[in-house]
Amino acid sequence: MFQTSIGPSGGLAGYLRPETAQGQFLTFQKLLEFNQQAMPFASASIGKSFRNEISPRSGLMRVREFLMAEIEHFVDPEGGKSHPRFVEVKDVELALLSREVQLGGKTDVEKMSIGKAVSSGLVDNETLGYFLARIQLFLKRLGVDQSKLRFRQHMANEMAHYAADCWDAELLTSYGWVECVGCADRSAYDLTVHAKRTGVPLVVRETRNEPLRIEEWQIDLDKKKFGPRFKKDGKAVEAAVEALTQEQREIFAGELNKDGRIVIDVPGVGNGKVELEKDILEIVKRTRVENIREYTPNVIEPSFGIGRILYSLVEHIYWSRPGDEARGVLSFPPPVAPTKVLLVPLSTNPEFSKLVRRFSHKLRALGISNRIDDTSASIGKRYARNDELGTPLGVTADFQSLKDGSFTLRDRDTMKQVRASEEEIVAAIKSLSEGTEIWEDVAKRLPEFTEQQVD
Ligand code: AMP
Repeated sequence: MFQTSIGPSGGLAGYLRPETAQGQFLTFQKLLEFNQQAMPFASASIGKSFRNEISPRSGLMRVREFLMAEIEHFVDPEGGKSHPRFVEVKDVELALLSREVQLGGKTDVEKMSIGKAVSSGLVDNETLGYFLARIQLFLKRLGVDQSKLRFRQHMANEMAHYAADCWDAELLTSYGWVECVGCADRSAYDLTVHAKRTGVPLVVRETRNEPLRIEEWQIDLDKKKFGPRFKKDGKAVEAAVEALTQEQREIFAGELNKDGRIVIDVPGVGNGKVELEKDILEIVKRTRVENIREYTPNVIEPSFGIGRILYSLVEHIYWSRPGDEARGVLSFPPPVAPTKVLLVPLSTNPEFSKLVRRFSHKLRALGISNRIDDTSASIGKRYARNDELGTPLGVTADFQSLKDGSFTLRDRDTMKQVRASEEEIVAAIKSLSEGTEIWEDVAKRLPEFTEQQVD
């Protein structure tokens, strides 16, 4: 926890959370209820986290306040922590830097399908493996350079004592390899510790398909005699009796049968030893039938540092047009680009301006972010400015648009253009922004437009 001071005179200690996870653990029972008690399930949270970094540095890479997004996936620890959707990702290939390779002082990664990594035991279980693959697919979707991504396994001394296995997604940047997403199997640690401290059980209760029959030694106390006999020590003696293990109970049952009495340890009562006779307690073997199974789920936690991912992404997708260092391009894939479309009238002709504004309204109604650049700079310059800002698509209104209502659509990365009706261009923008199509699909579907065709 990051300690700070709060209150009018700053005299009160306040604590800032180092991760968003704990809020999700504390509300586990409610979350389970929202999910109709069904397992497995996950919750997610995004928010600020705080760490008292000794030397904040490197821009967004090491800061005291940062944006964090965490998923807590709760899974039954029985049955090897399998995941119902693991088959969907089992062939995804990851670059893995194992603990063993690091112990040998090396950093060579091994490319391996997540299916093989789990079946060989390198990655502890399917659920952890599922999330490693999903993290890779997510980073790919954002536009991260896959050749600059590796998953590094934590060394035993880096891992929290309770963690079963832990891998970091690291991205290569000008600062070297940087941990951007952590993915840990936190076992049942958090829920167990919170439950112990608060006294509120954080467990799953499931009706068993087949009732479980358990043979066990049970203790029956004769409460009528017990109370008057031990008076104020009654509670302590009873707790000591209840705490006897099955092995102890079996031995004591034999002694009770043989001698008619047993002596048990009760710290703090008399000389620490208490004698109990046959008439006050009985130890018998019985069969208990359990219809409900109660267990504490294990947690697999992918933890994303948004600032680090964003910074690394910007480094990965920034490039210059070949032969022209000054013409920078920021290749945000359309689904993640902050502004999807640049709208440019060919010139300051007010008729173009009207068309462009109408187009802008249409896009806004569809929730597609766009901006108009109607400055007097040349079209090339206006496009170049927006290439550097990462705007993936450009629409131009020209004389042809006035004649037949068609528009051109330009792709930032290839600088290729297509020309089609307003309806078709809007549909293409929508599917590109949503990521259901890529530029190559649109270029195949709509007629290419080359500059020479401009009226
Ligand atoms: P951790 O809980 O330490 O595994 O951190 C989870 C994620 O938060 C890491 O993968 C980083 O992306 C991010 N992170 C941790 N510390 C910082 C920090 N001081 N500044 C920015 N991001 C951080």
